[in-house]
Amino acid sequence: MCGIVAYIGPREAYPIILKGLKRLEYRGYDSAGVALLNHGLKIYKKKGKVADLEESLIGKDLQANAGIGHTRWATHGEPNDRNAHPHSSASGKLAMIHNGIIENYAQLKVELTKKGYQFKSDTDTEVLLNFIEDIQKNNGCELEEALRIALKRVVGAYVIVLLDREHPDTIIAARKGSPLVIGIGKGEHFLASDASPIIEYTKEVVYVNDYELAIIKRDELILKNLGNEKITPYIQKLDLELTAIEKGGYDFFMLKEIFEQPDTIFDCLRGRLDVTKGTITMAGVQNNIEQLKNANRIIIIACGTSWHAGLVAEYVIEELCRIPVEVEYASEFRYRNPVIQKGDVILAISQSGETADTIVAIERAKEQGAFIFGVVNVVGSSIARISNAGAYTHAGPEIGVASTKAFTAQLVVLTMIALKLAMEKKTIDQDRYTHLINELHNVPEKVREVLQAHQYIQELAEKYKNAKDALYLGRGYNFPVALEGALKLKEISYIHAEGYPAAEMKHGPIALVDESLPVVFVATRDSYHEKIVSNIQEIKARKGKVIAVISEGDEIIPKLANDVIVVPEADELIAPMIGTIPLQLLACYIGIAKGYDVDKPRNLAKSVTVE
Ligand code: GLU
Repeated sequence: MCGIVAYIGPREAYPIILKGLKRLEYRGYDSAGVALLNHGLKIYKKKGKVADLEESLIGKDLQANAGIGHTRWATHGEPNDRNAHPHSSASGKLAMIHNGIIENYAQLKVELTKKGYQFKSDTDTEVLLNFIEDIQKNNGCELEEALRIALKRVVGAYVIVLLDREHPDTIIAARKGSPLVIGIGKGEHFLASDASPIIEYTKEVVYVNDYELAIIKRDELILKNLGNEKITPYIQKLDLELTAIEKGGYDFFMLKEIFEQPDTIFDCLRGRLDVTKGTITMAGVQNNIEQLKNANRIIIIACGTSWHAGLVAEYVIEELCRIPVEVEYASEFRYRNPVIQKGDVILAISQSGETADTIVAIERAKEQGAFIFGVVNVVGSSIARISNAGAYTHAGPEIGVASTKAFTAQLVVLTMIALKLAMEKKTIDQDRYTHLINELHNVPEKVREVLQAHQYIQELAEKYKNAKDALYLGRGYNFPVALEGALKLKEISYIHAEGYPAAEMKHGPIALVDESLPVVFVATRDSYHEKIVSNIQEIKARKGKVIAVISEGDEIIPKLANDVIVVPEADELIAPMIGTIPLQLLACYIGIAKGYDVDKPRNLAKSVTVE
């Protein structure tokens, strides 16, 4: 889950690595470190954020033209200086950074300990590093060869990047299950977990695949598989601007990303939805239309916020396409023994496209013959490549750890898929179809309107910021919106919050209601409106504080609720794309009002590349 950056070339490596680590901090931020190779190997590392490392290095000798850097999200060993990466091998000859988990590290550690190895850290990473060194020592082989032998014994996921004191002209890297991009400059190379540290220097990149090794010099990039056969690198041009990943005037990436949503939703629709022609163009759907429309069943696999998008999609697909849908947590699906049948289609949803559990879950389903359709944001990511077909959400890089714009883009893509399939299956009539594509077309404008209420929502945040708990309730299409609202609040403000179907509330959570409990109702006008009005009454009767997200023109709920947030009217299938916006803002402003860094909520990391 960490961020990795490396450089080799004529420039000073340290400033490039430091800047890159700052851009990658969203991937993990409990400690950071660099190893620089000049005349000898220098390793500096520190608990805390990249800025703490930077400060501790003032006045240090940082000159080098090759180096590696890491920002960690601890899996093995607590976050402290000792466990921070890079790690050095027993002899001090090698330095290594690692993203992922070596699952059989304990066994390897026992073997190495018997041979007299001692360990300076508690990490799985240091075990692998010494395992590699031990192989090199015993076989008298090159590092590259030792690495190949070692990796054949490794169980788990990794990107590793190695420096060898005796070969200052070379960086060696390998990947399985975690992301690695190599940027190709003129007489220089850059390595990183994603393209953000690289685009400033070059737009030519190579995405390293699983089980590949990269041997990198200033002027040379050699890719090999574990069988020592060369692979021709596939060079791609990055279609990404640096400004897209900087804060753009906002104090937090999360705020910037919330406010970007009119544009990201527009980008997601662009080139696909044509209201004048009444068409939706999605090559991934069109090219596999038989497979998709004849699906016996769709199983949606996702985690976290993407799972909530999946719940909305379940309602939308069943309503429009009449195909049975199940929504599964990837982490549960992968470990149980699910029944996968011919004709099952798996819809995998992930912002990063690197979510470890989702990757394994879809690999399992693929082995059993399911057709995999990926809905991901990061182009070229693992899920995009494993899937048989897919559709990108085109929301641009999402840096804020709590997902916002990726969620709304997922809802848009999933709804377009449903509409397209419904048309093909003739389970929707022309009028309803035309109405819904017009509604979709209008979403960016409606979201823009909601965002104009930001000051009012900020005032609400002040009013409710000291709550200890909160309840979020919704029905139908708005039930997953309630879940997502509660998740956002938990992630960003550390206030305990629960999302519930509004009617189900009577079977437990209502016991929590008293005058100190804010209850957020997602109560935009839909087929269940009268029912949710009754639920509001039930909360009021118990003195709960009701905050309701309602549609324009609602005259009933304002009389009951303590506070209302009014959003533009929309069809109930489309309403989640709009109703979720004020809940994102509310959570974000409460987090900020409490003095938290909402871009880096504690214990969380952006892309969950460990299971
Ligand atoms: N497993 C390694 C550790 O705990 C790497 C974790 C990461 O990806 O940051 O240090």
